[in-house]
Amino acid sequence: MNDSSKYKMADAPEGYAGEGFFATKLSDVVGLARANSLWPLPFATSCCGIEFMATMASHYDVARFGSERMSFSPRQADMLLVMGTIAKKMAPILRQVYEQMSEPKWVIAVGACASSGGVFDTYSVLQGIDKVIPVDVYVPGCPPRPEQILDGIMRLQEIVKNESVRRRSSDEYKDLLGSYNIK
Ligand code: SF4
Repeated sequence: MNDSSKYKMADAPEGYAGEGFFATKLSDVVGLARANSLWPLPFATSCCGIEFMATMASHYDVARFGSERMSFSPRQADMLLVMGTIAKKMAPILRQVYEQMSEPKWVIAVGACASSGGVFDTYSVLQGIDKVIPVDVYVPGCPPRPEQILDGIMRLQEIVKNESVRRRSSDEYKDLLGSYNIK
């Protein structure tokens, strides 16, 4: 039997409710929709990717967050999850994938390697993906458990929910991309 009481619905944004109406800000409605339908592009190169597979599977069930729809096409994803060691040779590919994603887009660095190079403080490994693309959320751990990856997604949901619809055309955002030489 389907017990609907165990499912928690997304909270409505702040607003004014009355008989037969509910009024709120456009930004809040757009934020609510975006935050609960983030489509992941898994850029998995090593062990952290295996933790993400567990996060996707039935026990942790990332579908509870509206993110079960994987995309391996950058143009149909808005949440880039970078999981694993990124060699310097691979950095331009990661950057190209990021550039091919449509706005609005967000990035999570999953695990120590993606966040900082991890234990691989060597000439060949990129010491954090934020050397080549902007990052919104960092998930610590080597490897992070699926709970930590879900925590990272929930933190990103908070960011997305509260992002103004004007942010992507702001000078501040253009300056951020400009600092990475991304147009
Ligand atoms: S952070 Fe640890 S588990 Fe994740 S890719 Fe690096 S070495 Fe592997």
